[in-house]
Amino acid sequence: MNSTEKRFVYADNAATTRVSEAALNAALPYFRESYGNASSIYSLGMNAARAVVSSRAKVAEAIGAKSGEIYFTSGGSESDNWAIKCVAESGAAVGKKHIITTNFEHHAVLHTCQYLEKKGFRVTYLPVDSMGLISPEQVKNAICEDTCLVTVMFANNEIGTILPIPEIGKICREKKVLFHTDAVQAVGNVPIDVSKMNIDLLSLSGHKLHAPKGIGALYIRSGIKISNLIHGGAQERTKRAGTENVPSIVALGVAISDAVKSIEEKQRSVSEKRDRLISELLKISETRLNGDPEKRLCGNVNISFRGIEGESLLLSLDLEGIAASSGSACTSGSLDPSHVLLAIGLPHETAHGSLRLSINEETSDEDIDYIIDTVPRVVKKLRSMSPLWERICRDEKIADR
Ligand SMILES: *Cc1c(COP(=O)(O)O)cnc(C)c1O
Repeated sequence: MNSTEKRFVYADNAATTRVSEAALNAALPYFRESYGNASSIYSLGMNAARAVVSSRAKVAEAIGAKSGEIYFTSGGSESDNWAIKCVAESGAAVGKKHIITTNFEHHAVLHTCQYLEKKGFRVTYLPVDSMGLISPEQVKNAICEDTCLVTVMFANNEIGTILPIPEIGKICREKKVLFHTDAVQAVGNVPIDVSKMNIDLLSLSGHKLHAPKGIGALYIRSGIKISNLIHGGAQERTKRAGTENVPSIVALGVAISDAVKSIEEKQRSVSEKRDRLISELLKISETRLNGDPEKRLCGNVNISFRGIEGESLLLSLDLEGIAASSGSACTSGSLDPSHVLLAIGLPHETAHGSLRLSINEETSDEDIDYIIDTVPRVVKKLRSMSPLWERICRDEKIADR
């Protein structure tokens, strides 16, 4: 560390989170002490198996499910692939080859749907409105005789909009169509009860809630028969093969219990910080907030700045010690603007100049102050060098601030 010690602010919790100390400490004994295979019958293996049982109960409790309805997977992407591909397969077997989703899902859902289209399925991509919302009526009107699945994300990872999941669940149950939700961003941020909300399948991921990367779960309501995505051994009640990732499963159990313990308190304190951040950043000229101001994840800030490139903004913020994101991590490295921002109707140019700051309960008031101090300065500097901003000012006579 040099003499000018720099602040580091991690504001990319929607991309991944830091593993909590509690989750790490709970996992550690399963690396070098209770390292047995959870399928073995000697005590070393049984210890691991017991830990898996207890973690499954914790995950189930966190979303109002029963233990027998939870299947551990390698993460959100696998859970989404499993739910969608395998429900589609069952649907096809009885002549139902239509799927309904939205046009702003995570790529784990969108690319799976596109893959199924190539395999002869019909997919309806419901267009979200300018806030990133769809109405339950849109879903209702899209359901056909041959619809086998509705898959709608609980909360959007880029703009933070929370969708009307209980209302959509009710419609799907009435119409007897299976309902899957990618709740990766919602678990731990929004109270979830799969039975009250009529959710049939739900994907969640560990690394978005302070557990390690590479662990997740799929909730499958009991009574739903779905084929395997991963074939092999008899793990996960024969439904998902592969030796159990015991340390990560244990960490997920601890992290998810912690995450749902204090959702109301977290929502209150984090959204207060979020709103301060939003109102201060919107004081910069020619900016806009993306996503619904109210139906919004407590930690999500997504703002477009006209006249600058998101990528250069991110690089400049990194030099100032702020880790943030533009669009989603999955699209970085490509020059296409985020499909989510295009879906809510932003022009390409505006979508390109977007910044996502995702904060959480670990973000301090001083961190927020630092962001509020840094972002306007960086935006001003980038705009002063931007031919695009110069053109905007000339064409629209905006006073440069
Ligand atoms: C992160 C994320 C995923 C992917 O989860 P992984 O565990 O990284 O595979 C899927 N959906 C949403 C909404 C996400 O935010």
